[in-house]
Amino acid sequence: MSEEKPVGAQPVKKSEWELSRRDLLWLVGGVAGANLPGPATWGGLELMVKGRGAPIWHKSVCRFCGTGCGIQVAMNGGRITDVRGDELAHNKGVICVKGSMVRALPYVKGRLTTPKIRRDGKFVEASWDEAMGLVADTFKRTIAESGRDAVAFYGSGQLFTEESYTANKLFKAGIGTNNVDGNPRLCMASAAVGYTQVFGKDEPPGSYEDADHATFFFIIGANPFECHPPIFERIRRRKADNPDVRIVCVDPRRTLTAERSDVHLAPVPGTDLLLLNSMAQVICAQGLQDQAFIDKHVRFSNGTDTVGFEDFRKFLDARYRPETVEVELGIPAHQIREVAFSFARAKATMSLWTMGFNQRTQGTFLNNMIIGLHLITGQICRPGATPFSLTGQPNACGGVRDTGSLSHLLPNGRMVANEKHRAEMEEIWGVPPGTISPKPGFDTVSLFRAMEDGRVKACLVMCTNPAQSLPAVDRYRAGMEKCFLVVAEAFEDSETAKLADVLLPAALWVEKEGVLGQGERRYQLVEKLLDPPGQARSDLQILGDLAERLGHGGLIKARTSEQVWDEWRQVSAKSFYNFKGMTRARLKKERGLQWPCPDENHPGTVRRYVEGDDPFVSKGAGIEFYGQHDDKRAVVFLRPYVPSPEMPTAEFPFQLTTGRVLEQWHTGTMTQRIEELRQASGDALIEINAQDAWPLKIQDGDIVELKSRYGTMRGKARLTRSPRPGVLFASFYDTKLLINRVVADTFDPTSKEPEYKVTAVAVVKVSA
Ligand code: SF4
Repeated sequence: MSEEKPVGAQPVKKSEWELSRRDLLWLVGGVAGANLPGPATWGGLELMVKGRGAPIWHKSVCRFCGTGCGIQVAMNGGRITDVRGDELAHNKGVICVKGSMVRALPYVKGRLTTPKIRRDGKFVEASWDEAMGLVADTFKRTIAESGRDAVAFYGSGQLFTEESYTANKLFKAGIGTNNVDGNPRLCMASAAVGYTQVFGKDEPPGSYEDADHATFFFIIGANPFECHPPIFERIRRRKADNPDVRIVCVDPRRTLTAERSDVHLAPVPGTDLLLLNSMAQVICAQGLQDQAFIDKHVRFSNGTDTVGFEDFRKFLDARYRPETVEVELGIPAHQIREVAFSFARAKATMSLWTMGFNQRTQGTFLNNMIIGLHLITGQICRPGATPFSLTGQPNACGGVRDTGSLSHLLPNGRMVANEKHRAEMEEIWGVPPGTISPKPGFDTVSLFRAMEDGRVKACLVMCTNPAQSLPAVDRYRAGMEKCFLVVAEAFEDSETAKLADVLLPAALWVEKEGVLGQGERRYQLVEKLLDPPGQARSDLQILGDLAERLGHGGLIKARTSEQVWDEWRQVSAKSFYNFKGMTRARLKKERGLQWPCPDENHPGTVRRYVEGDDPFVSKGAGIEFYGQHDDKRAVVFLRPYVPSPEMPTAEFPFQLTTGRVLEQWHTGTMTQRIEELRQASGDALIEINAQDAWPLKIQDGDIVELKSRYGTMRGKARLTRSPRPGVLFASFYDTKLLINRVVADTFDPTSKEPEYKVTAVAVVKVSA
């Protein structure tokens, strides 16, 4: 445990006492939370109401989203009594409503405290030895009978880095299968592939700090007011201090972010590559491009061959003039021209996007093109000028993308299909040449399809809930039922836990120790503050036990979180992701560090590819996209728009889009158990534009039936003006409204990320 440093509670103004509990939840969750003094959380007030003594505060990190907020956790009498934003962390003390309630997480009901084995259709308690013995025997027998690729690991952007790294090493270098994938495939694979294609390396070049310098914010396919509140608060403050700063939000729904923007553009779902290409057309046609930057740093490609700037311009002129695309896109030509002009001419443009872009059949192309807009305008590698993909989970970047814990990847940006990369990792891991299979494993959708047809017979699922989060989820639940499913989980009644053959109780958040890597390449340490309940163990302990039982104990020698981190630091030193300088001692002291960070005196890198900041840029180069492209240039791709297969038809005249709400996170396995959050969000509803509801005779609260090509489901309607006409919206946190039953089973052919954001549906009223 960390050294305890008393910080003490601070006074709260009387006016705050007059707020209702619900009001306060919204305040700490949104804009005003940052302006409340001291422990501006419900917990802080509650503590004072009860008149407890001064707690001991510990530096930590919020368990929930990819913003990765630094927090202070108050311990009193061996229990967590409060949480508040850490003013020294990147989020400057701002946290959202979920973060303020994270203190309740270890104490919610429904924790799994003993291993369980399914016998005759029912779970019975078992010892760890019995449960792990069954898991290891079944894995060994499956490998012997059906080969290594008949087993798999399905992980999560919520495991600690040390845990994902160990699982990846065990399966790829020990068992010898690349069947390692995880839920980041569902939320950010398109961003990862997009960056890699453009720069030769994954992860954003900029940082949250760019929001303090930008003069033009282009928010597209993201709703940061609800999903990344401290980042939106940073944008709001920037605008409050500089009234000329403009915010444009592109979203088919009038979200809370759109309401707080200067301009809201509401495209037809699935068409926004038309918008990006049309903006590029305007920029190039009107000479708004930064030709000097292009000449020095950019290469153009049609996806196979290098082409010239003139080819790019012709490609855009042929199809993407604003007047050509405006009807299909649903945004008037004059607005396309205005936003293109502002994007190019602003002093510093920052784009922010997330699942609205990534979860699309053209997700990779969208990522390519948004970065392309920054490259052709030179809006990159300066304070405030950057493309920036927001991320959803606390460790999808550090834990999964950086460690290469996806089926086509190896650590630090290496590829399974690349012989040199395999040889490098075999040498680093000390395994014989040829150990790592040259065949990429199953990506998420393929993995669950392989369970369906019996190619994958045994799978270890850790720290995630695919039986709720996958698209067309009934199909994949049926596949999971056929497979020997081992689920390491903190809760015994998640949708996936219900389908398990073996349930392993897992420690949660501060019940174990490890490093989280959030969305701006920042690694932060979470120290252990509590013991896990009952017999629960950390996922790292479970993986170490499995390695031993499968005969790979010699390969997985590092068994403590610190030992694994030290090994992983050394591995990183042989790559451009180098963070060898992030020792455990530094992480204990500092509020995270951003890689590259090659030695112990390096402060970390805020802006990549910029001389003086990024240690890998050659002296005198200024800006250098050093990735793996020989010419050290970033690539702008010519990416044609292809309509989504889920455009409306006579049979399915509406488009369903899904997303998150302020008070809930992911599939709600954690946030739904916290009473304050559950009450604040209420049940998930199907939002329908009042204009669409009128002819269908649907009123607020009516039960409606949604039907798509993939399934049918019922839920309660909510009439609103938020989604544009023709669009329905529902959130996926609520098991009572398992919206993924109807979500499209289609995916991006390159990133393999499913298209959650566009599903053609029909809607009818069932009852009042
Ligand atoms: Fe936690 Fe995300 Fe909220 Fe920050 S924004 S407090 S990381 S849920």
